[in-house]
Amino acid sequence: MSDAIHDGLERLPARRPTRQVTIGAVTVGGDAPIRVQSMCSTDTRDRKATLAQIRRMEEAGCEMVRVAVPDREAVAVLPELKRQMQGPLIADIHFNHRLAVAALEAGADKVRINPGNIGGPDRVREVVRAARDHGAALRIGVNSGSLEQDLLERHGHPSAAALAESAARHIAFVRELGFDNVVCSIKSTRVRTSLAAHLLLADQVDVPLHIGITEAGLPPYGTIKSAAGLGALLLHGIGDTIRVSLTADPVEEVAVAYALLKALELRVTSPEVLACPTCGRIAIDLEKVVREVEHRIQDIRAPLRIAILGCAVNGPGEAREADVGIAGGKGSGLLFRRGELLRRVPEAELVDALEQEVRKLAAERP
Ligand code: SF4
Repeated sequence: MSDAIHDGLERLPARRPTRQVTIGAVTVGGDAPIRVQSMCSTDTRDRKATLAQIRRMEEAGCEMVRVAVPDREAVAVLPELKRQMQGPLIADIHFNHRLAVAALEAGADKVRINPGNIGGPDRVREVVRAARDHGAALRIGVNSGSLEQDLLERHGHPSAAALAESAARHIAFVRELGFDNVVCSIKSTRVRTSLAAHLLLADQVDVPLHIGITEAGLPPYGTIKSAAGLGALLLHGIGDTIRVSLTADPVEEVAVAYALLKALELRVTSPEVLACPTCGRIAIDLEKVVREVEHRIQDIRAPLRIAILGCAVNGPGEAREADVGIAGGKGSGLLFRRGELLRRVPEAELVDALEQEVRKLAAERP
């Protein structure tokens, strides 16, 4: 037996190796960061509203934006969206393969099709040809609501095995056409089915996987359901791009996606604030301090850990572990930086003192 000391994290599965694909200027899969994407909730034909929403999504960090393309009028808007947005544009198509071809001709960097409702292999072949001609990517989106009849008959219902089989079959078809710029998604409304389907599929294919729990609903339940489903997948090393589906503003979906990646330490683009739940030992207004800190540091992009603890039980220990920490006391708090006790600060000055230290550390980062 080896005497090597492990920290235990080696028990977690590593990120699953996937081929890298390119969507506009954005890479997905391989060693690319796990990408955050979302979908506009506006009527795509309303170009003003759609552009305004895309701008807000991109400002929030959305790296790829998808829009619904239900008809030719929506296709006609795509070139202008493309001109005005920063990241790649994805067209979401159902039922009509001609719209997918038209969207690619109009400049979409990727089309999402559901082979289960696009009308057969010949139509998928036409879409693949157009994607290749225009240097675009394709997402095969398998959905539990639109599985092929033969799979439904054989499996009895849209089971995890049926979803994985459908996805593997469509990926094989596209790859046999010599087209590799393909991403796949399996969307189920059930967390357990989703995890099982992805585990089955991940053993069979190397294409990047777009993950999401579809129709998760309103926050906060939808947020929790998404976090449970996406968290389980990501901790199994599965997922190259994520979309959180909420019945809410897509900007909120983007914020939740980044918070989830941060909580899993997979992609940390802003500080993490740890705070104790408070209890009967508390002697400062901790919730007020934490809210104020969160508000003040919104603009900081450094992956720092900030701990705000209410008392001397765990406070000094946890605060020492963080990049910047406060351990509360009676009307004051101890301020720590990277394990070093700096000074005792009166409660009224805690937020200022903590912000100052956080900004100093953020500025020191390359
Ligand atoms: S750190 Fe102190 S105040 Fe906060 S929950 Fe723990 S014991 Fe209670």
